[in-house]
Amino acid sequence: MNAMTTPLAQEMAAIIAAEGPLSLDRFMALALGHPRHGYYMTRDPFGAGGDFITAPEISQIFGELLGLALAITWQNMGAPEGVAVAELGPGRGTLMSDALRAARAIPAFAETLEPHFVETSPVLMRAQAARLAQDGRDANWHATIDSLPEDRPLLILANEFFDALPVRQFQRAGNHWHERLVGLDPAGGLAVGLAQEPAANIPFAAPEGAIFETSPLSLDIMRRLGERIARQGGAMIAIDYGHAKSGFGDTLQAVKAHRFVPVLTDPGEVDITAHVDFAMLAIAAKRGGALVHPLLTQASLLERLGIHHRAEILKRKAENPAEIDRAVARLAGTDDAAMGLLFKAIAITAPGMAPPPGFEQPDPRLS
Ligand code: SAH
Repeated sequence: MNAMTTPLAQEMAAIIAAEGPLSLDRFMALALGHPRHGYYMTRDPFGAGGDFITAPEISQIFGELLGLALAITWQNMGAPEGVAVAELGPGRGTLMSDALRAARAIPAFAETLEPHFVETSPVLMRAQAARLAQDGRDANWHATIDSLPEDRPLLILANEFFDALPVRQFQRAGNHWHERLVGLDPAGGLAVGLAQEPAANIPFAAPEGAIFETSPLSLDIMRRLGERIARQGGAMIAIDYGHAKSGFGDTLQAVKAHRFVPVLTDPGEVDITAHVDFAMLAIAAKRGGALVHPLLTQASLLERLGIHHRAEILKRKAENPAEIDRAVARLAGTDDAAMGLLFKAIAITAPGMAPPPGFEQPDPRLS
């Protein structure tokens, strides 16, 4: 019965016994966001002593370059008075802090912007507030994107946000799609099985056994942000690991102490994510009415924004310049161990706007 190791596993087993199997998106939402036992609700998972490390925690350069990119985007928009700089899933607040510091290079932008965070974890909200307080700044918090300001342009950043949003999976069996659900095995442990009834409304076929994965919440958020940005003006840069083209396959993964672990074991104690389907995100943003700029690798974006130049400046004053080289190699390197190719960046803007720095205009003949 090693699947019943956590209080949340027991609670899930009780729900399944009473109501039947859980869809994977419900399982993932509970594992990450259960008010008492959810992974993000109870801890700060980042850093060397935590479970995983993210780009803004690797080097200040990451947030600085994105902050400057937003400042230039704001200038390209005609420097509107009053703009919300919103970050989705801001973790420790490191990216926003570094971005706001770099944004001071354009003082009128730094003065007129108002920081907003979309965050569900009370532990991380406290970390974000403490981090901005160090910079002498306050922020506004939102549980969802719905309460972001409606009366001004939005400049939005999201790093490793969409990978944390729940996914559903469907498996091809006997010429139908069946949803993959979390139920109980004969010993009472959590186990994935297929729904008996086929799922309706998946309009394509695939070979027997193929898995179709989709994140309805991610697509809904992207469509609504596309609508907001088209209506209110502004831009969004979202960075995550994932694939440029849609395909079949199960990409759910769980991580604990920097190692992969089984997804169903120890819910609430392990980070669970899925690869982001950027092609679907792009379609969702376009449906909302926004302009989507072609996807870049993280390596290309950071190089175009000047990561090597910024690293040279920081190295001149650094006690340990080799550490900066290592951080740059991790963020923008293109070997398998680095993040540069696995992570991708998508930008959306209001229609008719120039792309944010580093990005390119979409070719109208392709859309
Ligand atoms: N951007 C940060 C943290 C990435 S981890 C970094 O790069 O370091 C994912 C973040 O998304 C956490 O802050 C987590 O609490 C938040 N999060 C997860 N699910 C969320 C949801 N449904 N709504 C808002 N925030 C969420």
